[in-house]
Amino acid sequence: MSHQSKPVPFFAQVLQNFDKAAPFTPYPQGLLEQVKQCNSVYHFSFPLERETGEIEVIHAWRAEHSHHRSPTKGGIRFAANVNEDEVTALAALMTFKCAVVDVPFGGAKGGVKISKHNYSQDELERITRRYTFELNKKNFIGPGIDVPAPDFGTGPQEMAWIADTYSSLNPNELNAVGCVTGKPISMGGVNGRTEATGLGVFYGIREACNIKEDMEALGLAPGVEGKRVVIQGFGNVGYHAAKFLHDHGALVVCIIEYDCAIYREEGLSPEHVFNFRQEQGTFKNYPTAETIVDTSAALEMECDILVPAALESQITIDNVNRIKAKIVAEAANGPVTAEASEILHKTGVMVLPDLYLNAGGVTVSYFEWIKNLQHIRFGRMTKRFDDRFHQTVIEIIEEATGTTLNESLVKKIGCGAGEKDMVYAGLEDAMINAFHRIRGIKNQDNGKMDLRTAAFIDAIHKIVQSYLEKGIFP
Ligand code: GLU
Repeated sequence: MSHQSKPVPFFAQVLQNFDKAAPFTPYPQGLLEQVKQCNSVYHFSFPLERETGEIEVIHAWRAEHSHHRSPTKGGIRFAANVNEDEVTALAALMTFKCAVVDVPFGGAKGGVKISKHNYSQDELERITRRYTFELNKKNFIGPGIDVPAPDFGTGPQEMAWIADTYSSLNPNELNAVGCVTGKPISMGGVNGRTEATGLGVFYGIREACNIKEDMEALGLAPGVEGKRVVIQGFGNVGYHAAKFLHDHGALVVCIIEYDCAIYREEGLSPEHVFNFRQEQGTFKNYPTAETIVDTSAALEMECDILVPAALESQITIDNVNRIKAKIVAEAANGPVTAEASEILHKTGVMVLPDLYLNAGGVTVSYFEWIKNLQHIRFGRMTKRFDDRFHQTVIEIIEEATGTTLNESLVKKIGCGAGEKDMVYAGLEDAMINAFHRIRGIKNQDNGKMDLRTAAFIDAIHKIVQSYLEKGIFP
């Protein structure tokens, strides 16, 4: 972070990005103002009895940015520096993100101001359950009201506690488990949710890299294969984005964490790095790679694709001129400040914006929510029927050609899709469609506009449309 420039509050930055897009739409100022502002923010505090017997006050928030669609949706962050501005900004980003990928939710976000590693498992459970209890008391949670999910510092375990607490408080709610997504599979989660954000990041980058003329403009060859990638942040999103990029032939040359970075010109194996960190608690001294202590220098390294997958405001006015990547792929929310993003665009860097690129998480959350409301696993009724149908197709081909199909072909035709296949396919489709829609909007402006502005324009149209459909502004 900078010592020189005064940081612009995060929510103000989201609105700054919105304001760049608004003039490209035909809507009156008042309507645009309604789309921008945060509908409700609930700040509450509650006591926690620590294992030492001391009482500590925990501060927590839930912001519901837009109710143009119900329920509202967005993760819950457990972090020491969570504050109202951050939660509000992230809730707003959720609104626009959902619109971009056609997920019919309003945007929300929650936060609990704690440093997770300072608390025992039992204390975390009590914090999470009490947080849910407080949300429930004020009608800030429910399958048709507001549906949390994992975010920085939370995962399936916290979601399981939320689902359980909400279900016991609402015994007559048939859809109770749909009050939260990102749950363990055994509690109504969906296969593929864990890796969804990182996989969506991969699909988005791959789609952008597959367009020859756009890559030529950046001086790059098409395709992700062989691209030199730097990943900042190796949590759930960073790890999975790195893994899928690596599996598809990209060279993950550098991975940056808060305490150090590791660099290997021939590419790192994200899986090895992950296992090493599991065992050692750090990347330091990872064999076959160089350890870089200056993490900001690592961010400024020469590469094709820089993937900031940690927290907001990592690329600011203070370091943007030293960024050498050709593509900045925003896996995190708000990693590039509005000002810095404009500079990157002016200097010819392609920025794949957060409200598009990291929408994979909420897209698969949508699938999970649908699964919960339907009370049936995807494919449960059709799997056997599909399998039999495919078997018949194989037999017909074999009979007509007089040959026996080889094993790999049989496998390709023969097996009906499982839940994970469907989730991956649905996510891929959402990311591909959204990319081309945004790129189409950008190209209407002779390609001068940045992709973030194009994504905001797309989102504004859809949100206004849903207000108008409901006749809220007759
Ligand atoms: N926290 C994730 C995000 O920022 C996922 C939200 C969700 O699944 O509702 O997009």
